[in-house]
Amino acid sequence: MSLIADWLVRQAPAWLTGPPTRPLTPAQRRALHAILRCRTPALGGHVYRCGACDDADFAYHSCHHRACPRCGGAGTAAWTARQTARQTARQTARLLPVPYFLATCTLPEELRPIVAARPELLHALFFREAAKALQTIAAIPRHLGADGARQRGDGRASGATRSEAQGEKRGRPRSGRRDEQLGMVGVLPTWGRQLQLHPHLHFIIPGGGLAPDGTWRQAKRSDWLLPGDAVAAVVRAGMDEALRHAAPELHAQVPARCWREGWWVHWLSAGTGENVVKYLARYVHRTAISDERILAATNESVTFRYTNTATQARKECTLTADDGARQRGEGEARSEAEGEANGCPHGGRGAEQFMRRYLSHVPPPSQHRVRYFGWMHPAAKARRLKVETLLAVVIVVRAKAAEPPPWHLCCRHCGEFALVKTCNLPRGPPTCALRQSA
Ligand SMILES: [Zn+2]
Ligand SMILES: [Zn+2]
Repeated sequence: MSLIADWLVRQAPAWLTGPPTRPLTPAQRRALHAILRCRTPALGGHVYRCGACDDADFAYHSCHHRACPRCGGAGTAAWTARQTARQTARQTARLLPVPYFLATCTLPEELRPIVAARPELLHALFFREAAKALQTIAAIPRHLGADGARQRGDGRASGATRSEAQGEKRGRPRSGRRDEQLGMVGVLPTWGRQLQLHPHLHFIIPGGGLAPDGTWRQAKRSDWLLPGDAVAAVVRAGMDEALRHAAPELHAQVPARCWREGWWVHWLSAGTGENVVKYLARYVHRTAISDERILAATNESVTFRYTNTATQARKECTLTADDGARQRGEGEARSEAEGEANGCPHGGRGAEQFMRRYLSHVPPPSQHRVRYFGWMHPAAKARRLKVETLLAVVIVVRAKAAEPPPWHLCCRHCGEFALVKTCNLPRGPPTCALRQSA
């Protein structure tokens, strides 16, 4: 039983078979099909028998689509465990014994319509340029780069250092394996607190870097790792250049002032990193909104709870028929202000606005919501091992602790974890709604 999933199942047939005023992208269409079929006879299932009370039970298969509100719970728990695993038999410690930082990069409002039109391109460019900017600034000697005094004896290194410093002033990015001093995990949520389009990047970064001379450079401050303004300037210059090369027709639509202002990088001290991993896990495998935030979902409107970014106060939002037009492409702060201003339902088109916002966060095919950079990249195991050696990470191999029994084997009649699979349920025919839309 899921409020939001049941609401989507009720609305989906009308959208899949509806008039052309409700156009869907192929990815959104696939998402609605998956949500309609999730945990229904259409996907088949398993029949169980309880070893304790001898009752029979059955369960339908999940769709595992990234936009499905029923799915993703197990993936979220597994990702969190992988990132925070400490000293198990198979994994080395993932979190290092250094202070962690959370960097958040945001795009200007003017770029959001472009992101909505070509999400697969813009998301990839944003990921690449933001990671490159962080590595570029980290490579500068006064931040985390190699020791300047040591490098003055080396003409090539000294020249590279000067050009990096000049590049920082001009906001011009540099790239290269040698500059990759940081290890980072980047996560890309596309939604704001009220489900409006608000693509931004979170980077979980251990507080230090691996210098080119093979030493570990500890973070110099406790509140931020790198200067946010300098990183934002390099991201802005990198995105300008990358978009001009990748899609000149889109670049021509971006207002000129977008390349001067509206780029921000915020830093947050994240302690041991464990809490921030748990916080970001929800963006990796879950969709834009979950049942805990839904207060009411009717055929006319959906009311949900959110937290105001500025005041941290808990608010309620009910989208109205006008919200989509007025709030499209606008920033979170303005959207929240308007959402609070019209916080009561007006007519039945609020449901349509909610659906439009929900579908705008269906990820394009093959889009990664999480990426690993620098020495945290899966292909950089040797550099990762070097960092762990420098930080004297002690790896203790312990006997595997007894894991709790899988939740899906719990008998709903007697509560014992004693279900045994006896046979498979074959897949049923598609639902009526699916046949109509095919
Ligand atoms: Zn599902
Ligand atoms: Zn039982």
